Amino acid sequence: MPTLDIQITPRQASAAGVNLDPAKLEFGTTFGPDWFVSEYRHGHWQNSRVEPVQNISLHPAAIVFHYGQSIFEGMKAYRWVNGKVALFRPMENARRFARSAERMAMPPVDPEFFVEALKALVRTDREWIPREPGTLYIRPTMMGTETAIGVHASGEFLFFILVLPSGAYFKETGASATGTVTVYVAETTSRAAAGGTGDVKASANYAISLHTIEEGKKHGCSQVLFLDSNGRREVEELGGMNVFFVEKDTLYTPPLNGTILPGITRDSVIQVARDLGLKVHETPIQIDEAAEKLESGRMTEVFACGTAAVVVGIRELVFETGRRVVVGEGVSGEVTRKLNAELQGIQFGRVADKHGWIDIL
Ligand code: PMP
Repeated sequence: MPTLDIQITPRQASAAGVNLDPAKLEFGTTFGPDWFVSEYRHGHWQNSRVEPVQNISLHPAAIVFHYGQSIFEGMKAYRWVNGKVALFRPMENARRFARSAERMAMPPVDPEFFVEALKALVRTDREWIPREPGTLYIRPTMMGTETAIGVHASGEFLFFILVLPSGAYFKETGASATGTVTVYVAETTSRAAAGGTGDVKASANYAISLHTIEEGKKHGCSQVLFLDSNGRREVEELGGMNVFFVEKDTLYTPPLNGTILPGITRDSVIQVARDLGLKVHETPIQIDEAAEKLESGRMTEVFACGTAAVVVGIRELVFETGRRVVVGEGVSGEVTRKLNAELQGIQFGRVADKHGWIDIL
């Protein structure tokens, strides 16, 4: 991997005139002007560059279109009030990208190179980082581009990184600290099975969740909670976030057993919760037991966590059968809010970074 050998030809564009007001930016539709891109051919990565974003031209028989050989990551750059630009635990994303690549029979991207590549891009497009609570969302992606029909791993790949100036992830919560989401409990579909790809960021995992997400929307839910694929009715995770249940001063979250994504926010929440004196148990959670505890008031909070939304309260679980379980008072509970404030505080430089998670550009 040719570390630091990245050609930089930025677009001669200015962010002046671009509306970077976090309250106005929708998540996922505004892009920075440049991308990082590298091509894998003849056994190595080559032609690594930062340049104006281009459309990709591929033969219709490219492996990615037929067999879905594709992985991605999601992370953010934060603009601090003192003008510094920070990344949060970028090596964790780099290592997870490497694990995803290996699982999907794709060539490795050296984690050091991965971080250098995204830093080169974020530096180039730093004008596009909105102020807090906005962030620059970063989307590294790799796909198999060889032209060939027939099920086999591609011999050629594209690795690229996009940046997106972003406001709040959920329209319904906005930047509000007490905003909550409603979650549809998938009882007849699952997203991952033992030995599958649930613990890596394969695009295929998301493709198979789309049908259930659309079903959830019909029931007024913006997210789906998936259960295990063996009919044990154990909680796994949301379509794009990990999940925690709160009982007094104790947090419960499913263990990393191979079918859920090891979220970097999940890991950070566990550490921050312990710092705050809370107990955390990584243990199987039976959805029916949890529903009972929520209805009886013994369990008071449920929250989801991930890079995009950080920590967000869940106000209601909607089952396929039509059963609805309301959580607490219908607003984000105290533990949820405290964890969100602490994590965002670290990310935006307001709270001491005692774990060494911040990487200043
Ligand atoms: N689970 C899934 C399925 C996800 O897509 C994500 C987002 N990457 C997460 C959990 C949360 O992971 P992270 O905290 O690293 O963003």
